[in-house]
Amino acid sequence: MRIAVIGAGLSGLLAARDLRRAGHDVVVVDKGGGVGGRMATRRIGDAVLDHGAQFFTVRSDLFATEVDEWLANGVAREWCHGFADIDGHLRYMGVGGMTSIAKYLARDADVRLGVTVSQLDFNSMSGEWRITATTRQGDDVDLIADATVVTAPLPQTFAILGSVADDIPGSIRDIEYDPTLCLLATLKRQVPVSESGALQSPDDVFSFVCDNVRKGTSTTPSMTFHVEPVLSASHYDRPDDDVHALLLEHVTRYIAHDDIDESQLKKWRFATPRRTHSESCWTHPHIPLVLAGDAFDGPRMEGAALSGIAAAAALS
Ligand SMILES: Cc1cc2nc3c(=O)[nH]c(=O)nc-3n(C[C@H](O)[C@H](O)[C@H](O)COP(=O)(O)OP(=O)(O)OC[C@H]3O[C@@H](n4cnc5c(N)ncnc54)[C@H](O)[C@@H]3O)c2cc1C
Repeated sequence: MRIAVIGAGLSGLLAARDLRRAGHDVVVVDKGGGVGGRMATRRIGDAVLDHGAQFFTVRSDLFATEVDEWLANGVAREWCHGFADIDGHLRYMGVGGMTSIAKYLARDADVRLGVTVSQLDFNSMSGEWRITATTRQGDDVDLIADATVVTAPLPQTFAILGSVADDIPGSIRDIEYDPTLCLLATLKRQVPVSESGALQSPDDVFSFVCDNVRKGTSTTPSMTFHVEPVLSASHYDRPDDDVHALLLEHVTRYIAHDDIDESQLKKWRFATPRRTHSESCWTHPHIPLVLAGDAFDGPRMEGAALSGIAAAAALS
């Protein structure tokens, strides 16, 4: 089959890999300029900062098999056994940033980046999907596929499915996402925050604070700050300059303004699903469509990975 996978995050890349292994002709389409989706790494000057997922844990044997391959190929490594408190649970990270894992998974894939899908239409006469999309340059892209896997966050999925979205059970349509506001800062000097380099939920503002030098992602002093969900939601729609200024005020509890070289704001509208569906993916009962992503198997990297693998199995 010709299969279109929408989304080059962890879920889409693993779905695409398994579908290719099963002999299908797979095209992955993503609106982003790089692979990884919410496993995102940004460079500011010489600094390297993860600004989406910061670390991952392993709970299942299936995910452990994937992670063992990443470790063996040098794209992931162990980080720590806890942040401020050592709780014994192993945390892993991407080597040189989380996107190294996505780049590894995408190495043999046909990935079309910077291509935003606006519409998915299934023609029941021909049995084909028409994928309507636009490049960043404004060029139209038309793809034809026999089956489609959509791994975008669900609100973005519903936006491109047209009337097919009506076939999706309400229990999936109702899933909402928490946003995350993120401040990235390069610094004039390293500011240690803990032995591991990070603090998880250290106060009433931040859900994660990371010194990227101590983490081992960056040699240039830099920090990543994630704002907890309620505060992120209450400020999300304010003008970016106001939100940026507010976050710069809040980070003074960790760094002095004079220590900051450059700072950038990143807003994740669909950062974390508030709940997840009970199955690993959703397969349309009548047409070749599968929905996958972290809204299906757990709101974290492992869930996204397992859902992508399940989506491929559903079509194979
Ligand atoms: C701030 C933040 C911190 C996090 N921290 C952690 C953590 O520490 N540990 C952990 O395990 N997890 C963490 N997560 C969650 C983790 O990043 C996600 O669970 C996982 O990366 C989701 O992968 P996915 O493939 O399901 O979705 P995504 O990575 O979101 O991939 C979906 C892709 O679809 C693309 N797309 C959407 N709409 C379209 C369209 N119309 N056309 C083309 N492409 C489209 C997007 O560009 C995106 O690349 C964090 C997430 C965020 C945002």
